[in-house]
Amino acid sequence: MRQTKDSHEEMFKDNTLTKFIFDNTNIKGQAVTLCSYHRDVISINSYSQNVSKLLGEFIAAVCLLNANLKYNGRLILHAQRSKGLSSIMAECTSKNNIRGIVRGDFSMLSDQIDFYQMFKKGTLRLTMEPESGDRYQGIVPICENTLSGCLEYYFEQSEQLKTKIKLAGNMQTAAGILLQKMPEQTSSDDCSQDWREKSILLETLRAEEQINLAHYDQLTSLFSNDDIRILSVENPNFWCSCSRERFLKALHELYSKEPRSFFEEGDSISANCEFCDKNYEFHKSEFKNKYNQRRENNLSDI
Ligand SMILES: [Zn+2]
Repeated sequence: MRQTKDSHEEMFKDNTLTKFIFDNTNIKGQAVTLCSYHRDVISINSYSQNVSKLLGEFIAAVCLLNANLKYNGRLILHAQRSKGLSSIMAECTSKNNIRGIVRGDFSMLSDQIDFYQMFKKGTLRLTMEPESGDRYQGIVPICENTLSGCLEYYFEQSEQLKTKIKLAGNMQTAAGILLQKMPEQTSSDDCSQDWREKSILLETLRAEEQINLAHYDQLTSLFSNDDIRILSVENPNFWCSCSRERFLKALHELYSKEPRSFFEEGDSISANCEFCDKNYEFHKSEFKNKYNQRRENNLSDI
């Protein structure tokens, strides 16, 4: 495995995304480990152990998928149950800013109730929202026992790309590794053999190893006979895109439909961001002035 000492040390840092390629093959990959930012996400809503583990897998997965894209915007991974409002969502921007949330009742989630049983007959959506241009959304039914299995199925169906993903999470850490076989110019038995071997080796990676080992150690222990080149080492951030202006706009939308439910209990209204727990408070005069300004400007998005 080729890399510099500096990049090796970099891979021991707290929140890290490492991109790599297997030399002389058409297989590339990335690994992610999130520690303090994962703890930040789960501490806001005091999630249980099982919910923290699943949310960790979602956040690690969206980081890995985002690393494959060249765009400006955000990528959202969202699973929704077929009945009720329970859902789980994680997003990553092109600047590696992550956030995630769980909504609804997940109390049945346990070591015995897996991802498939939790979301039976539900859907998994992957949405890319560029800063300019049209959004793109791919949807697959939740038909595998694990999130990684569903995502592999998604890539097979939607992108025709062979993909192997391993995800792990607990209360402290979220981790993931993804291998992908790039489209071949010509079909080759060697490439297929390479892919099979590496897929089988990745399957042997245990959750404890993913959570506890640095990327360098994971890769060298799994693929000791391969020449792996590190392409980059990046550091994702926990960052929420909420703002006073966004909350005001959302509240104005509700106000336009049901004005009587506003300001029943006083001259101000407040709202909490469920992603980062930041509180926004608006006084009646500011709220109504800005609402009237929006109407006068005839903004269609009220
Ligand atoms: Zn926020």
